[in-house]
Amino acid sequence: MSTDAQLAIGLDIGGTKIAGGVIDRSGRVHAELQAPTPPRSGAVVIAVILLDLVSRLRAGRDIAAIGVGAAGIVRWPEGRMLWAPNNAYRDWAIRDELERETGLPAVVDNDANVAGYAEASLGATTYRQMLFITVGTGIGGGLVLDGEIYRGPTGMGAELGHMIVDPLGPRCGCGNHGCLEAVASGSALTRMGREAAAANPDGLIARIGRAEGVVTGQTVTSAAQQDDPTALDIFTRLGRWLGIGIASLATIFELEAVVIGGGVIRTGDLLLSPVRAAAGEFAYAAEPRGVPPVLPATFGSEAGMIGAGLLALEHADRKPGAA
Ligand SMILES: [Zn+2]
Repeated sequence: MSTDAQLAIGLDIGGTKIAGGVIDRSGRVHAELQAPTPPRSGAVVIAVILLDLVSRLRAGRDIAAIGVGAAGIVRWPEGRMLWAPNNAYRDWAIRDELERETGLPAVVDNDANVAGYAEASLGATTYRQMLFITVGTGIGGGLVLDGEIYRGPTGMGAELGHMIVDPLGPRCGCGNHGCLEAVASGSALTRMGREAAAANPDGLIARIGRAEGVVTGQTVTSAAQQDDPTALDIFTRLGRWLGIGIASLATIFELEAVVIGGGVIRTGDLLLSPVRAAAGEFAYAAEPRGVPPVLPATFGSEAGMIGAGLLALEHADRKPGAA
């Protein structure tokens, strides 16, 4: 029997909820708990929630390690949260605090990194060279190269959502112009829907928006599902930008696959068809090199929690003295 660590607690700190689960090496979730993320909460509040989830999930189980995936900028391997989009913490030594309070080894990484790691390591097909993109309110990215998460020297690398694809494009939340996130995220879908509704107040997007009170990305999705040409055109433009970004990354990294997760992937082929078309159209030397398949994510909203647990188990093995 292996003495390797068998169970870890994976935690995913998102903008609206914190999910925690007991995870084994196959990615199976043995138990799961959730807590809402208090808006703009700081380190003290979040630490209390994390430690409560850990102690409840740990009860009666032999837990070897803790892994955290968190939205924001995480310094690796120290596990310091430098900044987060939804929370008030700045430069929080979250890994040290978890290790001190629980006595367990911990790892802390960016949420898209660990979600991508779960998709690459535990999906129906496994990949050693894979790009993961989450298309939600923003765009997150995880890059798995040679079977490992690529983070750059200190965890600042692979910020794929802020790759510039259109320097003349709209302003991004980060202050730059034409980032992938500014043209291909759920927020971009909402913005383009509102522009279309303003330009054509009698169109289907505007009419659905009036009935619902406001135009959102979901309004555009509903209109597209009713074959509204304006809404379909918005998905074509959004997917095209995503495909352009993917084509460049595939050219650089020789990807085996591209996996897309996040809320907007629930629109299925509305998003995937134009992405695949542009990824092929802008591929470099597609004939000899091939074009990687663009696939929907396997794990949905649990990917971050599962990937964080898996990463924790693998790092527990590497630490001397770990059980
Ligand atoms: Zn940006």
